[in-house]
Formats: sequence, structure tokens, C-alpha cells
Amino acid sequence: MGGLGILSYQECAPHAYAAASDSASEVLAPILPGVEAVRDSKSQHDRCQEIFAERHAALLNSLPPIEQALVSEAASPVGRMWLGIIPYSPALKLSNACVSIALQIRTLTSGVGESCRTCRRRTDVLHFECCGTGRGTLTYRHNGVQDAIAAAFRALPNAQVQISPRMYGSFNRFHDIRLIGSARTGIANVDLDVTVVSLGSTSARYSYEHLVDPLPDTAAPADIARHFADLHLDSMAQAKRDNIPLATANATAALPFRPIVFSVGGLMERGTEAAFKEWKKAMKPWVYSKMMCDIAVSLLKSRASAFSL
Ligand SMILES: [Zn+2]
Repeated sequence: MGGLGILSYQECAPHAYAAASDSASEVLAPILPGVEAVRDSKSQHDRCQEIFAERHAALLNSLPPIEQALVSEAASPVGRMWLGIIPYSPALKLSNACVSIALQIRTLTSGVGESCRTCRRRTDVLHFECCGTGRGTLTYRHNGVQDAIAAAFRALPNAQVQISPRMYGSFNRFHDIRLIGSARTGIANVDLDVTVVSLGSTSARYSYEHLVDPLPDTAAPADIARHFADLHLDSMAQAKRDNIPLATANATAALPFRPIVFSVGGLMERGTEAAFKEWKKAMKPWVYSKMMCDIAVSLLKSRASAFSL
């Protein structure tokens, strides 16, 4: 027995016995002479956490960087949100195929075998969303996040939301979302640019292979895996900032600019995570919750549509 992260009875039994023994001693000590209460007794749950942590570390250490990043995505709040979403509106419904594909990806199962049928290259678990077959979903996944954020902004009092506003000082460059008039709610005027990137892309691989700021060897494997993904997402956000024309960056009328960067699996860049924390304080709970559900489902649908069996 055991598997899917569930401990086998052989692993659990000694901890269950020790926890039961501690608990019995605690009850019997006041009434039976010779029985001593155990100080700092640990529950079975606490004892088993150590084994879970060891198993998690061993699993991550056995995976290549891209699969480690995918595990980080799957463990992130947005990446795991779809598992608990109640489809109370049509937009939140997932087809059977979509759920099946999502579970395949979650269990690190590549859909295309040893080599890709399109480009003939050797594949890995995220090849499907970086190869030519997945390119049609780029707009879909971008617009899904953009629409969810814009809808939540429109629910703010006095907010004016513009989609694809022209950049100040530029004739042919556009932001994704402009928010004006909601400063009283706690969200200042801002121009946003939404980007959804794959952690299996060529530039992501470059980030993994040229890790400029490694964590110490003593860091937990889960932290190191997250660090790989963070480096790539941070670099994408910085590239967006660097890509703003000087005329716009120096314009006094220009609003503060904020890149919003997600990985396809739902991991947020650190600046994006901070922005969502601010928005959470200013938005009604159900508005914020709906926005997050919409983002999680649209990202999952876009990933599933790129997946080939
Ligand atoms: Zn390919």
C-alpha cells in the first residue's frame, strides 16, 4: 500500500503506536501509579509530517528543473485552485477532457511521448505548451487573465477601466489595462501589462541553467524549485519594464506601470503576488474570489487546449 503521496501502513504504524502510547499515558498517569505522563507528546499527524517532508524532498531532488518548477506551479494557490472550484457559472465549468488533462499534467505525464510529432525534438513534460502546437493558445491565456482582472476592477466604486489604452507619448504602443478613479478604495491609478509565460520555454531553461543567485545547499528542495521559477518570472517582469519606451517612462502624465506575470500553471511573479495582495484588501471578497477562480480556470483551459495526446 502507499502511493499518490499517501503513506503505507508500514510507515504509519510505528508513529500511530507512539502517538497512541503518548495519549494513553496522558490519560492514565493521574489515575494509575507507575504511569508517567509524556512531556511534549506529539500527535500522529505531527509525527507523520516529518515523513511527508522527507518524501517531498526526495521526490523533488529526483526531478529535473522543469519538473520541479511544474510541481511548484501545481502547489501554488492559483495552480491548485481548480481542484476546489464549484462550477456555479458556465465560465467555471471544466469538461471531462480538461480535468483528465489537468490531472495528467499534475502527475508530470507528458502527452506526446519521447519525441514531438510536430517538431520531432525530444520532449519533456512542458514541451506541449512551448512547441508550435501550443502557440494558438497564447492569446487565449493572455486574454483570460486580462478579462478577469478588468471585470474585478469594474466592480470597484468609481473605477474607470480601459482595455488596450495607448501608452502616453506613443502612437503605436498599448498597455493591456488602465485603471483610473479608484484611489479611494486603496488601488491607485495604474497601467497594467499582462503576461502569461511557460516555465518550459527556452528563456525559462536559460534562467534555470544560468542561475545567478543560487540558494544555499541547505535550502529545502521545495524552496530551490520555487526559486528557479521565480527567477524566470522576475526576469519576464523586468523585461516588460525595460520595454516601455523612454518617452512613456519620462512622461509626467504617465501612470505608474505594473507588469502582471503568471506562469501558465498559475505561479505568480513576486511583484504580481504583492499587487494581488493589495487588490484583495480593496475588493469585496466575492469579487476577488471570482477573479481568482476565473484566472485559474482560464489558465487551465488554455493549458489543456495546447495538450496533445
Ligand atoms: Zn514539438
